Amino acid sequence: MSGSHILVINAGSSSIKTALFDGNLAEVLRIEATGIGGTGALKIAATAHATNLPDNATALAAIFDALQQQGIAITALRAVAHRVVHGGTTLTAPCRITPQVRQAIADCVPLAPLHNPHHLAAIDAVETLAPDLPQCASFDTAFHATTPDIARRYALPDRPDLTGLQRYGFHGTSYAALVRVLPQQSGALPKRLLACHLGNGASLCAILDGQSVATTMGYSPLSGLTMGTRVGEIDAGAVLRLVRQLGLEKTETLLNHHSGLLGLSDLSSDMRSLENSNNPKARFAIDHFCYWAGRQAGSMIAAMGGLDAVAFTGGIGENSSHIRNAILDKLSWMGNFPSYTIAAQEEIQIAREASNVLTTDQKGQNDA
Ligand code: ADP
Repeated sequence: MSGSHILVINAGSSSIKTALFDGNLAEVLRIEATGIGGTGALKIAATAHATNLPDNATALAAIFDALQQQGIAITALRAVAHRVVHGGTTLTAPCRITPQVRQAIADCVPLAPLHNPHHLAAIDAVETLAPDLPQCASFDTAFHATTPDIARRYALPDRPDLTGLQRYGFHGTSYAALVRVLPQQSGALPKRLLACHLGNGASLCAILDGQSVATTMGYSPLSGLTMGTRVGEIDAGAVLRLVRQLGLEKTETLLNHHSGLLGLSDLSSDMRSLENSNNPKARFAIDHFCYWAGRQAGSMIAAMGGLDAVAFTGGIGENSSHIRNAILDKLSWMGNFPSYTIAAQEEIQIAREASNVLTTDQKGQNDA
């Protein structure tokens, strides 16, 4: 019986991750399609099968087939909830996907060309299979809608042709989940919290009284910390030179896919592999990651006017005590403060947000 179940879909370029939650928001099944367009594999719960996944549409169809085989019919779900990377300036809270919301997500494609088209494809595929099924969206950018203008604006002129060129910030679902679950460990939510989402993508967020006031990512998820394959902070002048030297497309590939830990180490984008290596370049890449996390943490702390606690999440943040300690070490000038480690809870946060949206909608209809 799946009428109370919510399926969360996180559709990316080379992988589609889904998690199914029951009516109590307990996770009951996880299905992931990875290596789309290459060495495809479908992972159902803990078991992976190699399979041909030439494109995202095939991958999504394979996931829906697998659900069907587990006795879950898409049409019988309560809802499908999508992770959407970019909500721009208008989509600043989780919502039901109406034709207008779909259009607004499409309008954000120029802001997130590597992400939003995949979310739209998944939304459309579900719409085709189950036109009456409610679909909801949670936006990575939404948690940062509270950042003040002074933190958000680049020092650019206020011209119509430059509209939308501002800092948005990402990993918002992860930070929202962290704010929700941290008090289970810390008691009251710390007033000035430095949150560190350290995964393949990595960012820091200054959370004051539960709200984002600054974050290290900006217009796109490319800026801020040194990441798995993304360059992080880089002078715009250097980017201009790269565009002149390599052209736009090669620059885009270099900065997004061949830089960061991979570019520095020339070995791997994977922190665990680097930690297991004796290669001096791997050591340098790790040191670079920690140095810049520590340095940019100083900027986040200044934005909050001090620090009461640090919380780590994401694959690196959760699992590597070595990286956590190296970053905390760089903050020893702040004196004593507690630090927490929280498992990333993005999928359940998205399911919870969808459930709240639907309950509120239902209540509105009943009241009307
Ligand atoms: P994504 O941003 O793609 O969701 P994750 O949050 O899963 O990624 O983080 C992936 C990163 O976490 C990789 O760099 C991986 O090596 C790192 N990681 C996972 N487990 C460990 C570990 N035990 N020690 C060090 N790094 C780890």
